[in-house]
Amino acid sequence: MILSLCTGRMTSLQMSAQEEMVEKFLDAAARGDLKQLCALLSHTPSLLNQTGYSGWTALMLAARNGHHHLVEKLLSLGCNKLCTNSSSQTAYDIAKFWGHRHIARLLSLTDDGGLRGGTLSPQENYFSRETLDRLSGKRSDAAWLEAKQRDPDTVYLLFSNRSPMATVTKDTSGDGADVKLCRFRYNAVKDLLQKPATVLVFLGAERTKNPPSSTTSSSSSQTEQDTPDTPVWFAINSDEDAAELLKRCENSSCFFPKTPNRDLLRLDEEEAGVVAQARSVLAWHDRYSFCPTCGSPTSLQEGGHKRSCLNPDCRSLKGVHNTCYPRVDPVVIMLVIHPDGNQCLLGRKSIFPARMFSCLAGFVEPGETIEEAVRREVEEESGVKVGPVQYVSCQPWPMPSSLMIGCHAIATSTDIKVDEDEIEDAQWFPRQQVVDSMFRGAHQTLVIPPRQTIAHQLIRHWIGINSNL
Ligand SMILES: [Zn+2]
Repeated sequence: MILSLCTGRMTSLQMSAQEEMVEKFLDAAARGDLKQLCALLSHTPSLLNQTGYSGWTALMLAARNGHHHLVEKLLSLGCNKLCTNSSSQTAYDIAKFWGHRHIARLLSLTDDGGLRGGTLSPQENYFSRETLDRLSGKRSDAAWLEAKQRDPDTVYLLFSNRSPMATVTKDTSGDGADVKLCRFRYNAVKDLLQKPATVLVFLGAERTKNPPSSTTSSSSSQTEQDTPDTPVWFAINSDEDAAELLKRCENSSCFFPKTPNRDLLRLDEEEAGVVAQARSVLAWHDRYSFCPTCGSPTSLQEGGHKRSCLNPDCRSLKGVHNTCYPRVDPVVIMLVIHPDGNQCLLGRKSIFPARMFSCLAGFVEPGETIEEAVRREVEEESGVKVGPVQYVSCQPWPMPSSLMIGCHAIATSTDIKVDEDEIEDAQWFPRQQVVDSMFRGAHQTLVIPPRQTIAHQLIRHWIGINSNL
């Protein structure tokens, strides 16, 4: 076996004794011989991460052959599970490929010396948590909405220029969320509700954590059962001076985020989900205050989820028109994988922080499928041609109302020709460099976008490591 023990000044005899020991150790891992593995390790702890033929570690061999108890033991001793072999596979990839799901799960869930990447669950992206029950059926119930506005339990979020009033907190959650939304009650905002320029949007009701038992709900009417008796939330956008609005909050550290792309990523998952909805709808009101069909003034309806034209002759009042409802703009965002499977294509825009590269992305055009949009955008921006496209997950991105449709795509060509009007640079990055950059701090030439972005999650998905790490 080829070894990586070339440090120190060893004689050829010592070298071969070392080689022999590593070979024995790796053989024990491959056979599932826990007793021998432990005996060798207690004698020579440095064997733990040694590699043999093609860069395989003991963990990889144990994962390949389905030895769950060995994998467990090696992880408990702190072995490095992010090592890759000469085919750029981690132990997780190997376990997954050979169908040892219980081992793959073990490798994906176990903490690895402080490499936690946040609290997102697999397939859940930031801004995508449905914190509130939207109760869309209640939006047309004007009397119910009006009563809820005056309810002392109702929560109001106050927006200025589409940014929510928030305050900086001491981070206690451990996931880096250090900004909290300021919550107001009816009495603190009722004057704003009277002003014609104020936009009010019904967001939904808090979800019941403990649903009522069958004995207590049996006497309720159907309507009461359909409408949970939990506090409802509204968002208000006010055109009043922001400094004056801030005086309404008792907390002196409150502020309206000036750079939403950065500041809104500091909320916890629950509040980020609410902001995703509120900010997009408020931004729509801001940009569509007049009828897109005839240019007449419009009125707010359905709890702020519809605008109707006030011109009785307008075409938009006949039939169904999507101009009456908040818009969502589909964007494809894709990690393009090299035909060899071991490199990915990342690009950077000049506005990115230094050394940051991310997935390519672009708006879906009318009459275009997701797959075609991926192929077109990748070729336009980088000159690389793409074959198969696979959907992975999506993310609402309220800047102001995109839906990021995350895909993996396999390249069929590799030459890069950057469209400098769109991006500044694009490069193929080897898997090991991406792994290093993501888990071992900023790499000299590569910084990956933060975990709240779907680009980060698409890259994580590719390197085969569970988001819960
Ligand atoms: Zn109109």
